[in-house]
Amino acid sequence: MRGAVLHAPGDVRVEDREDPTIVAPTDAVIRLSATCVCGSDLWPYRGIETVDGPSPMGHEYVGVVEEVGSEVTTIKPGQFVVGSFFASDNTCEICRSGYHSSCVQRELMGPLGAQAEYLRVPLADGTLVATPDVPSDDLIPSFLAASDVLGTGWFGAVAAQAGPGRTVAVVGDGAVGLLAVLAARQLGAERIIAMSRHTSRQKLALEYGATDIVTERGDDGVAAVKDLTDGLGAHSVIEAVGTQESMMQAIRATRPGGHVGYVGVAHDVTLPGEELFFSHVHLHGGPAPVRQYLPELIDLIWNRRIDPGKVFDLELPLDQAAEAYRAMDERQAIKALLRV
Ligand SMILES: [Zn+2]
Repeated sequence: MRGAVLHAPGDVRVEDREDPTIVAPTDAVIRLSATCVCGSDLWPYRGIETVDGPSPMGHEYVGVVEEVGSEVTTIKPGQFVVGSFFASDNTCEICRSGYHSSCVQRELMGPLGAQAEYLRVPLADGTLVATPDVPSDDLIPSFLAASDVLGTGWFGAVAAQAGPGRTVAVVGDGAVGLLAVLAARQLGAERIIAMSRHTSRQKLALEYGATDIVTERGDDGVAAVKDLTDGLGAHSVIEAVGTQESMMQAIRATRPGGHVGYVGVAHDVTLPGEELFFSHVHLHGGPAPVRQYLPELIDLIWNRRIDPGKVFDLELPLDQAAEAYRAMDERQAIKALLRV
């Protein structure tokens, strides 16, 4: 099969990879319909995270089940399925509490390489959720968004306690930040402040339900959020970047007693204890338990109540994965979809 492999920073190649097969009796193999490039794929692409030799890439996937292992009981060949970036059993105590991405049996999907024609999915009954039927082509980008960026933005909004009567601010205008706006709107937030300097991204944020746009960042961005909230700060702030600056911007834009939901993968973030102590802010976040939200998100997409697939503003065939990485790295695309 064909699959994307990162050889060195800036060097992604689509090449022949071995076809995946059932290894454990709880595995499934799926034929991908579409996959995509994640903001977090850019960390190794830029050399900020190191890779040991050629690495298969990709952890976002939707497709049709080809084959299942002997112990798989609920997932069946022919079903269209959505999974997320951690395989999980959906039965352990941690999964049952809603934290599938910390499942005691979790397996990271990235090393299995979802930017490919086929993918082995461990713990198939727990990891995969089937759609009611095979969807029409135009719904595929939205289901693919549910695999990571929508589920991650949703968790950020839940962790920040976005809801009725709350003012929500979103730090970060990548796909996760934009879909956190959508999630906050779905959860009933009263006011949603999107922090973005890019016209096309501001436009999508407004379409997804943002009520205000703040173009400043850092301490100026904090001051602008305070100006909009009687000097108090937002009730809920979603952090969707993962840098020191964005994390401090999120904490400082939150009012005392408010909640920060942080879902940007942290890189060299250090929190000052004394400032945190006096901030009176709740912090919750981490790798999103996307699996928890998949049944609800699939239902919303199937019934066309949300359109998260609009974050894909570039679509290329899998063989042009290198171009997809380049466009995202240079911020020419919000998110690139790869048709398989
Ligand atoms: Zn579990």
